[in-house]
Amino acid sequence: MLHPMPLQRHEGHAVVQIRGLTCGYDKREVLSDVTLDIMEGDFVGLLGPSGSGKTTLLRTILGAVDIFQGQVVVEGVPTSQQRTKVGYVPQLETIDWNFPVTVQEVVMMGRTMDKRFFPWYSREDRMLAAEMMERLGISELANRHIRELSGGQQQRVFLARALVGSRRILLLDEPTSGVDIKTRDDVMHVLHELNHQGITIIMTTHEINAVAVHLPWIVCLNGRVLAEGPPTEVITSEILKLTYGADMPVIRYQGMTLVAESPHAYGRHAEEPEIQKLEAAHTNGSDQGTDHGSGNGHGHGHPHDHDHDQLEELEHKPVQPNPVQDQEQEVEHV
Ligand code: ADP
Ligand code: MG
Repeated sequence: MLHPMPLQRHEGHAVVQIRGLTCGYDKREVLSDVTLDIMEGDFVGLLGPSGSGKTTLLRTILGAVDIFQGQVVVEGVPTSQQRTKVGYVPQLETIDWNFPVTVQEVVMMGRTMDKRFFPWYSREDRMLAAEMMERLGISELANRHIRELSGGQQQRVFLARALVGSRRILLLDEPTSGVDIKTRDDVMHVLHELNHQGITIIMTTHEINAVAVHLPWIVCLNGRVLAEGPPTEVITSEILKLTYGADMPVIRYQGMTLVAESPHAYGRHAEEPEIQKLEAAHTNGSDQGTDHGSGNGHGHGHPHDHDHDQLEELEHKPVQPNPVQDQEQEVEHV
């Protein structure tokens, strides 16, 4: 599926301004001295290993994390003063799919954010929910239980819920994790379309080749901002090493950027024996890998558990070229 061309980085009006932000949980710093501007109409990808603070940054923009220093201003209003009006799509793995709720009910929840004192829905709320379901092609599913839907449909339901909350700024936490390749494409297509309609999007991702290189702007995080810019400038082996603490050769070929990626093996699990065993298996040439992203739909359910990490590792193996240490490879096509 051809996605609309990514819009270029916008100049002008910053809808989210983050200034000297240090924040975390129970006095423990997770992000330090983060300064970022998200411009109106941007489509920004946050990259970083597990535990680097991607989700925390999204939740800070929502106003849900303690700020120790600095400030976050959303559409001119500091989050410390007022709850922000942004749409949020949590990582779907965190959702309890047994919760008895229909598609329409989930979408309507996007309206309760403003209604702490009057938590019932108006006719206007229902109309807005119907409009968003229509826009995302899920009207027919309105009365179905969310558990009965495919991954792509579920992602659309939560997108509709976020859009009912805000039609200006969308924050998405790993919207392409745990879905097959067709669904990933579908989700990215919807996001590009929404971005073309003027919605500012900030999403986290761990998929560098499939997702990040196609976004107009990337921010690399690991406790602080390590780099930001268009993928052609930011996706280099030096910056990836800084971000993931790993050698990840970058190949530029016919205008494409390809990264020999295995970010799951690094970050906070890097010292764990399972990963070391797995790496040893790789060097010994044991190969149970399948095509990278073959789209067989076996839910990549739990990004932080070891089985999943191992599976990802094995799947990624066949795309690794001959190791090239600390050097960006330029492949010339003659
Ligand atoms: P990422 O999304 O990049 O994997 P997170 O933002 O989830 O990273 O986590 C960053 C750090 O903050 C991790 O060390 C994590 O354990 C910690 N953390 C995340 N959420 C909480 C929380 N609710 N309470 C305490 N610590 C947390
Ligand atoms: Mg996260």
